[in-house]
Amino acid sequence: MEIKPNRLDRGFFRYQEEFERKALEVLRSGWYVLGREVEAFEKEFAAYIGSKYCVGLASGLDALWLAFRVLGIGAGDEVIVQANTYIASVMGITINGAIPVLVEPDEYFNIDADKIEEKITDKTKAILAVHLYGQASNMQKIQQICKKYNLRLVEDCAQSHGACFQGKMTGTFGDIGCFSFYPSKNLGGFGDGGAIVTDDPRLAADMRIYRNYGSEKRYYNKVVGANSRLDELQAGLLRVRLAHIGELTKERRAIAQKYQEGIVNSGIQLPCIREGADSVWHQYVIRCEQRQKLADYLKEKGIGTIIHYPIPPHLSEAYHYLGYTKGSFPITERYADTVLSIPMYNGMTLGEQDFVMDAINQF
Ligand SMILES: *Cc1c(COP(=O)(O)O)cnc(C)c1O
Repeated sequence: MEIKPNRLDRGFFRYQEEFERKALEVLRSGWYVLGREVEAFEKEFAAYIGSKYCVGLASGLDALWLAFRVLGIGAGDEVIVQANTYIASVMGITINGAIPVLVEPDEYFNIDADKIEEKITDKTKAILAVHLYGQASNMQKIQQICKKYNLRLVEDCAQSHGACFQGKMTGTFGDIGCFSFYPSKNLGGFGDGGAIVTDDPRLAADMRIYRNYGSEKRYYNKVVGANSRLDELQAGLLRVRLAHIGELTKERRAIAQKYQEGIVNSGIQLPCIREGADSVWHQYVIRCEQRQKLADYLKEKGIGTIIHYPIPPHLSEAYHYLGYTKGSFPITERYADTVLSIPMYNGMTLGEQDFVMDAINQF
């Protein structure tokens, strides 16, 4: 049996007819950028998340950097973020000239909220909470800190569409929630896409201006903006998937629960589940001291795995200028050396999952 870490094809074929019908509808409409589909998607996604506004964008990275841009956070400002995130979280900060202040993660792979306050200076302007692998961060504590120090709160929800903390959707805790619709995300399109959600009409209006060359009215440019428009085809196809997100999330939760109960191996640590956090299991991430051996062994059996992420941002070449070295963030580096994402995707069969679990248990 060959089992890949992800199967985007299954996500397509499950709703093939609906996707194909929508694609044809958009192609035949003669309108391809910022139109009816984008407007409808923005309304439906805002309603799903429980935010007042949604603004469709070209990618998750754009959602992040434009979020800080409309909040006025830039050169010299400091933004607190977890050290063990996908590098896009950090780039969203540094594209604006702001400085990422990295904090070690807790056992749930999210920022350790108890280590935030010691990093706050008079330059700190915001916290970027990343809900990594689909599980919400400790939003109660993070919100308290933001209130106490008058900081802005931005959420990186690129992996957490539909994830909740104490029954409240991620993306609704702060000033702006940032989403990606990259094909492999829980709500994935068929190309790049992203969005922000917010309850603030001014931030939403500014975001609409920034995404379209800084212009509200054609050929009148207020600010130097970006070209970051969600296109009609993606928006239409995302609407199809969004209509099924409930069942898609339910399926991922069932797969995760089966893993939680079925993987029994003293050499392997299963993901810790935070009280009050309802994960959407973007990834199912185990930890193993002999990770390379485990990955090689699974590969031999035909089971693919991925490491999210092998090089933490502070050790990547791009952030050499921040001046960190190996040892700067020991917990983050330990995670980078031991995490392994095992197959988790919509459409995974029980037979496939049993095969993966048997192999892991025999390791
Ligand atoms: C995917 C991802 C992003 C970036 O989204 P893109 O649409 O690929 O630009 C940002 N943050 C996290 C945590 C991600 O997983």
